[in-house]
Amino acid sequence: MSDSTRIPGRRFLQSPGPSPVPDEVLHAMARQPMDMGDPRLDATIAACEAGLRKLLHAPEAEVFFYATNGHGAWEVAVENLLPPGGEVLIPGTGHFSESWAVQTEALGRRVVRTPWRPGWPIDAADVAQALRDDPQHAIVAVFAVHTDTASGITSDMAALRQAIDATGHPALLVVDAVASAGCTRVAMAELGANVVLGASQKGLMTPPGIGWLAADERALAVAERNPAPRFYWDWRLRRSPLSYRKFCGTPPQTLLAGLAAAFDLIDREGEDEVLARHRRLAGAVQAAVAGWAEAGALGFFAQVPDSRSVSVTCITVPEGTDIDALRTVARDRFGVAMAGALGPLQGKAFRIGHLGDSNAATILGCLGAVQAALQVQGIPVGNGALDRAVASLVAAGG
Ligand SMILES: *Cc1c(COP(=O)(O)O)cnc(C)c1O
Repeated sequence: MSDSTRIPGRRFLQSPGPSPVPDEVLHAMARQPMDMGDPRLDATIAACEAGLRKLLHAPEAEVFFYATNGHGAWEVAVENLLPPGGEVLIPGTGHFSESWAVQTEALGRRVVRTPWRPGWPIDAADVAQALRDDPQHAIVAVFAVHTDTASGITSDMAALRQAIDATGHPALLVVDAVASAGCTRVAMAELGANVVLGASQKGLMTPPGIGWLAADERALAVAERNPAPRFYWDWRLRRSPLSYRKFCGTPPQTLLAGLAAAFDLIDREGEDEVLARHRRLAGAVQAAVAGWAEAGALGFFAQVPDSRSVSVTCITVPEGTDIDALRTVARDRFGVAMAGALGPLQGKAFRIGHLGDSNAATILGCLGAVQAALQVQGIPVGNGALDRAVASLVAAGG
């Protein structure tokens, strides 16, 4: 009997997370667990802490790693920073800001939202207005999604910080960098972020299972005073030199070994080159999408070219397109797994992830396979889109 789930050669994982795992990371995880007193375990944890501080250009930040995912990291921010019934401002970026807002409300906090403008990044003026409307300073923090993975849009966090400061409101800025860390620059102080949070499985090229946060003095002080009951997520309990306390129990050793290897890869390639490579590959994808769009059926969801993320591209389709069928053809016939759309965009778009462990060859293979699937589905793609992607890579230096 033939096994139809197997595709010879390499399957391309072009979802915006989980993303492909480099061989070096896979190999680093192929090891036996260690006893809790083994100095290699402490060295692995220290390597992850150093790697994260370096990536965030935040040598002084307190960093926390949890056996969890991005949603867990969201919860860490809520439970540590917001008192019971406390208030937070969440600017609308689409599916991810709304999910974080819903989770925050489920935890008994109040959320002030600024409107999501589909296809557009955060409007800092909206945020400033919402803070001016809070003269009592009830709002403890602004929770902002840097790259909304559902929209493929990156908002300008430094501009947001400036807008917050211009109002004189003391709100903390908490940045969700799940889909941007390791892809675009996330330097904590430059962004004016008091907390940055993320997960292992996107730009950090490690399997899902680790959520992380970095916090500055101001955020730690707010957490220190926060009376909300908490335990597993509590920063106060985790600020310990003992690995058993740092993780509130047994650390996820295997994943930490993988994450340390991923930080090492970023270091060896050099952060600047990692970010430049993301820009080149995103440029190739955008060149192809611009080519396809000329045939009139497909388009960019992100309306502002500068806000198109280097991590993921969200591509709109004509009404009535069967996106599940398109994805199935792409996956089963052409070996490329891409993502559907989320929340309000469901059925209206699909997404190509281009973050993490990727290069010119994998991106060109992906674009060729996606175009093939589009053609099989009868969606007009015009001529020459793939040539544009090649030309974009050639012009960008490979
Ligand atoms: C993926 C993602 C999350 C959620 O992460 P999970 O690990 O799936 O819980 C949160 N925010 C952003 C921006 C994401 O891309």
